[in-house]
Amino acid sequence: MEYEAFIGLEVHVQVRTQSKIFTSVGVGFGCEPNTLTDPVVLGFPGALPVLNKEAVEKSIKVGMLLQSTISEVTKWDRKNYFYPDSPKNYQISQFDQPICEGGKVEIELPGPSRNVMGEHKWIELTRAHLEEDVGKLNHFDNDSLVDYNRAGTPLLEIVTEPVLRTPDEAWAYLNALRMLMVYGDISDCDMEKGQMRCDANVSVRPVGQEDLGVKVEIKNMNSISGVRNALVYEIERQIQTLKGGGSLVQETRGWDASKNVTYHMRFKEESHDYRYFPDPDLMPVRIDEDWRGRISATIPERPYDRQRRYYDDFKLPFTITSVLIPDPGLCEFFEEAAEACNKPQQVANWIVNNLLSELGNDGLSLSESKITSAHIAGLVKLIEEGVISKNIAKEEVFGEMFTSGEMPAAIVEAKGLKQSNDTGELEPICQKVIDANPGPVEEILCGNEKAINFLKGQVMKATRGKANPALVDQMLKALIDKKG
Ligand code: ADP
Ligand code: MG
Repeated sequence: MEYEAFIGLEVHVQVRTQSKIFTSVGVGFGCEPNTLTDPVVLGFPGALPVLNKEAVEKSIKVGMLLQSTISEVTKWDRKNYFYPDSPKNYQISQFDQPICEGGKVEIELPGPSRNVMGEHKWIELTRAHLEEDVGKLNHFDNDSLVDYNRAGTPLLEIVTEPVLRTPDEAWAYLNALRMLMVYGDISDCDMEKGQMRCDANVSVRPVGQEDLGVKVEIKNMNSISGVRNALVYEIERQIQTLKGGGSLVQETRGWDASKNVTYHMRFKEESHDYRYFPDPDLMPVRIDEDWRGRISATIPERPYDRQRRYYDDFKLPFTITSVLIPDPGLCEFFEEAAEACNKPQQVANWIVNNLLSELGNDGLSLSESKITSAHIAGLVKLIEEGVISKNIAKEEVFGEMFTSGEMPAAIVEAKGLKQSNDTGELEPICQKVIDANPGPVEEILCGNEKAINFLKGQVMKATRGKANPALVDQMLKALIDKKG
């Protein structure tokens, strides 16, 4: 019997804000334990929550990026459970009136090879709701310690329908979601810093069966590829269990990345176990037209729309767009430079093939480097106008420009790198090379045209790379023709 898998992801994205969701205490990572707390965070009796407008606004922005329906009225509910990571014994979340309903995310599946774009498809969302994070428990041999610094950090939980079909689709979805959050300036979604967390729900069913199978929830993955690996393992485990005549139970399993297995953690709570009810300390929030309008004006072009534009307008290949698109800062840099010299393909090549590797070598980010879009545009212009050869640009100008921050034209001037287009100067050099190399000249005369490359190389060497290669080619051919 054949089985097929269905996956639904619940992703928590930490919405970037100055302060916590219900109080003015700051949000931080890696601080001294229990320093980012106050009576609201710790749930002291009588302490009252005050909703953070920035968190709501950014959540609305996410909803728009996800093409969700933004609720006209949204409200907060208490999700009750007793566990030491939750100081109040309830978590403030949203139950029946989340900020965002529905929505969809465009994903790009891995291609047949690294250089080829994979299929695109849309993944439907159920909803996205805003809630507070809880504290973090640290377990030791005989006791456990709790750190409430993370408690009260705003989290947007984005839930997909059970429509992802493979671990690769889940991987592609998380990458696409992360790009959207980066484009919207919502979060860097660094899973290792807890800025993005993902619970993966997965079930399998025999092909042909109508109902979905029993769902298992997997937790504790700390990278996007970790989610993919956990799903690969879990789908196989479920299929083997069913094939072996066993049955599956609804449960929550953990992912052990070092052993590459999932393991039973607990049997899953049902939603009624949480006894949700509206939080009487928080007013519902109305999201009016005016507010929506202001936020919708800040929605950027989405990543794959940008990719299509680069493909249609600039004919950039996938190998280039796949590097540029995930980084909106790099895209803006590219667009500025392309606009300044009107040579988008050359600009993109310089950025992807030279600038990024140089930045990588020095462990610098683009904003930390001295190179601006004007540098790249200037360099491309010098090559296009025939002032310098590509080789000189690469060997003599780029590195210098990178370290000193001087403009390329100034470097060319100072180092005397201008390409020689002076036939009067080049002709005697070409003649000398011809006279000194009768062998290759003979070969050319006999019809082996490729032998000219050796002579060209000699001329370039003699001029320290400054001769215009096209011109040298012409002159050598003319001089040899004369001979023959
Ligand atoms: P719960 O109430 O247990 O949280 P939900 O119905 O809210 O369950 O769904 C949580 C996540 O699980 C969603 O992403 C949903 O798409 C996914 N899901 C639900 N049922 C299944 C299933 N049978 N197989 C795989 N994923 C599922
Ligand atoms: Mg749920």
